[in-house]
Amino acid sequence: MTTNLTDALLSGAAIGQPVRELERRVLSSPRPCTARPEDWFAEEPDARSGRAREIYEALARALCRGCPVASECLELAIQREGARPGFGVVGGVASWQRQDIKRGRGWSVPRRGGR
Ligand code: SF4
Repeated sequence: MTTNLTDALLSGAAIGQPVRELERRVLSSPRPCTARPEDWFAEEPDARSGRAREIYEALARALCRGCPVASECLELAIQREGARPGFGVVGGVASWQRQDIKRGRGWSVPRRGGR
């Protein structure tokens, strides 16, 4: 799923853009998460709970669906987090999915709590 996810969400011009440019694009756009930001930070399921993680991933996609800057938002989070795991939904994906994307880029990302 990660490959398709990466292809779908990080296609376009966001990958590798400077953080400042990504911030400018994200902050200058209307964003669904600004209305109820707490929804984007629901408690994340344990790594051993595959079904709960699937549900959380579906929720993440639904929350960010239609956001005009989802690719920029995801790329910005990936660059800001570096190898560290983040928290919450960003760009339609959960933190463990972002870690998978980073691994896909060849980054050395710890497996702590991941699957
Ligand atoms: S992609 Fe999601 S988290 Fe990012 S700005 Fe859009 S709604 Fe907010």
